[in-house]
Amino acid sequence: MNLTKLVTGDRLMTECLFCRIVDGEIPASKVFENDKVLGFKDINPVAPVHLLFIPKLHVENFFEASQHEGLIEEVFQGIATFLKDNGLSKDHFRLVSNMGERAGQSVFHLHFHLIGDRPLSWPPG
Ligand code: AMP
Ligand code: ZN
Repeated sequence: MNLTKLVTGDRLMTECLFCRIVDGEIPASKVFENDKVLGFKDINPVAPVHLLFIPKLHVENFFEASQHEGLIEEVFQGIATFLKDNGLSKDHFRLVSNMGERAGQSVFHLHFHLIGDRPLSWPPG
């Protein structure tokens, strides 16, 4: 846990962009939601399909998430359900999570990018 939550009167305000999306304070184009997981379109897509899947619980990255039993699995089950429900389970895509600034992480709330619908080169930049 970090210092993203600030108490203002009796209201819990959050500085974290993705927590604000979870809380409905910032709009997002949602593609999947259950009680633990949210999926929405990336605002700056790098491919025709570029979605983000996050746990609703604020954790900074994969490592912090691993300290909450079952949390990462919930996110992966959410992604799998999304793929199945949309007939995409046989599709080609990349699932990636940047951990730390030097790896390209800019929002410090764990998220998995689901990128697809174009050829993807390897290794990534
Ligand atoms: P990363 O750089 O791996 O931390 O990924 C953060 C992603 O969040 C980037 O791909 C951004 O385009 C995306 N992003 C930033 N703000 C928003 C927003 N308000 N709604 C949806 N996606 C966003
Ligand atoms: Zn957050």
